[in-house]
Amino acid sequence: MTDPAPDLLELRGVSKHFGSFRAVDEVGFTVRTGARHAVIGPNGAGKSTLFGLVSGTLAATGGSLLLDGRDVTRLPVHRRVGLGIAATFQHSSLFLPETVLENVLLAALRRAGAGTGLGGRRKAGARAAATARARTLLERVGLPTRHDVPAAELSHGERRQLEVAVALATEPRLLLLDEPAAGMSPAETERLTRLIAALPDDVTVLLIEHDLDMVFELADTVTVMHLGHHLTTGPPDEVRASAEVQSAYLGTTEVSS
Ligand code: ADP
Ligand code: MG
Repeated sequence: MTDPAPDLLELRGVSKHFGSFRAVDEVGFTVRTGARHAVIGPNGAGKSTLFGLVSGTLAATGGSLLLDGRDVTRLPVHRRVGLGIAATFQHSSLFLPETVLENVLLAALRRAGAGTGLGGRRKAGARAAATARARTLLERVGLPTRHDVPAAELSHGERRQLEVAVALATEPRLLLLDEPAAGMSPAETERLTRLIAALPDDVTVLLIEHDLDMVFELADTVTVMHLGHHLTTGPPDEVRASAEVQSAYLGTTEVSS
């Protein structure tokens, strides 16, 4: 028997309470190395809050988070980025006045630690390497001809593609995508699905997504959240067939936005 893939991320009873309101309440599940793991649930289920706890933009009020067995619960965002956690957010964090290439380049340079403290020649070398890397990433996400356009001029779908390139520029081991297909046309969603499917196996993907077709096409594991609670984690077919999930979530998709 071969060993199962080790866990990259483990959530142990993680909570985020805002006063007496339990946005995320004692959620526990694991994300295997190399997984395409989706988190679904109705609006307000606590999905984005949970991502904030993993990326470090929000501080947990209870429980712990382990990356490769290491406790990262109290680490600030930049330390988690350094350990390989990258996120795109439901609300964009691009530098809109900067060009497409510059957005990716800045992230690649930050990753290389080359923004400060290097002498002239080494700095130029690091910038050249990061530029080459940025160009490759833009090709991979499907923006090969948009390098010199300000990010503000991109279509909605193109911005989301750019956000994925920016996240990949930090060389993540764990990529968090919060509703990357929100507001996309069917063609853009299709392209994004192919892009995520084609990511190398050493990038583990944790994806929040409303588009269930995309979820069931991409994901090898699905976690369902409801009202701050973890309902279930399992293979897509099992989750889809679960009566509890049907009533808590799938039955409400028509009425939620
Ligand atoms: P989802 O992404 O699943 O739609 P969220 O994680 O965004 O859900 O929100 C979960 C719940 O937590 C919602 O009811 C939301 O209003 C609440 N919430 C989120 N952020 C805050 C905050 N900063 N203060 C108070 N309540 C919040
Ligand atoms: Mg959300």
